[in-house]
Amino acid sequence: MTSPSQVRLKPGDTIGILGGGQLGRMLATAASRLGLRCQVFSPDPDSPAFDVVANASCAEYADVEALELFASDVDVITYEFENVPASAALVLSARRPVLPDRMVLETTQDRLAEKDFVTQLGIGTAQYADVNSVASLRQAIARIGLPAVLKTRRFGYDGKGQALIRSPDDDLDHIWQELGTKAAILEAFVPFEREISVIAARAADGQVECFDVTENEHRDHILKVSRAPAAIPERLAAEARDIARRIANALNYVGVLAVEMFVLADTTGHKVLVNEIAPRVHNSGHWTLDGASISQFEQHIRAIAGWPLGKPVRHGEVTMTNLIGEEIHTYPQWLTVPGATVHIYGKGQPRPGRKMGHVTQVGVAAGTKSG
Ligand code: AMP
Repeated sequence: MTSPSQVRLKPGDTIGILGGGQLGRMLATAASRLGLRCQVFSPDPDSPAFDVVANASCAEYADVEALELFASDVDVITYEFENVPASAALVLSARRPVLPDRMVLETTQDRLAEKDFVTQLGIGTAQYADVNSVASLRQAIARIGLPAVLKTRRFGYDGKGQALIRSPDDDLDHIWQELGTKAAILEAFVPFEREISVIAARAADGQVECFDVTENEHRDHILKVSRAPAAIPERLAAEARDIARRIANALNYVGVLAVEMFVLADTTGHKVLVNEIAPRVHNSGHWTLDGASISQFEQHIRAIAGWPLGKPVRHGEVTMTNLIGEEIHTYPQWLTVPGATVHIYGKGQPRPGRKMGHVTQVGVAAGTKSG
């Protein structure tokens, strides 16, 4: 099989993207500006990414024949979501280079494996424990203390598959039943001062380029606003970038990844803890589309194409505001705001919590719609 360092696409070549959401759509758009084609594989016929590519493969991830056909149509394969089934990644990687490597998925699909991996690198995380029964949950609480967050090991996103345990009097049997899995971890609740993320790109030759550290505000566990640069001292920003670089190197990563972190202010000074690694382009990096000389999407495409990474230069203070659910209906107002750039993902129904679009503003305070 071709090793990642041997992949060198030329304009006109085709990238296969697994997943048809807004991230796939923005990846395909970035690729198209570089003269590269994309083919998107997704089981959902309404995939927003299908709208921007000439060729779509609409099939289940378990459909081996469809996967093989898809692989034969493309030169390299990447993904826009981390829950790519291992079996699909295996079928594809036997036929075409899959970047980032499918082994990355094994680490990042499982919160326990991911935390173990980060810890082994000597990087801090919240205290955590493996939990597989109510009895082990009680033991974990005794060790870690409360409050604590119980999370499913797999398939959790945007706060789904999580429960906050506040007091020893909470109904643990009920909480455990509700979680609906036997594979979970308990994490100490982190009294963070702020949440930040680093979007880093790594090329097959080991070159790493980080975007400026982003500060993230969540509402109901869903990212609402990102600001770049984060309002943190340069020493902390350098530490955050170094953490992302070490993780990317240890994974022998090719492409863009996001590392979400908590910043803690304690009596001994600031501390950075890793919350989560996303092996893909990330919502907190959307500001780079309009707020930097090169976007996270272009960096990812360059990395998997075997092209040199860009050195991203930020255009100013940048704010990205997500349009979630019904908020998408405010787009006409946003369109009239000087300096605002509106992105609409072309999704169907605006369900609660569904990311429908975003707005980027360079040099303007977050959420400014008028005046
Ligand atoms: P996650 O799905 O792990 O990224 O969690 C979603 C959000 O829940 C995070 O961005 C935090 O705002 C919050 N959260 C997750 N884990 C913790 C924790 N251990 N302590 C405090 N807040 C947390």
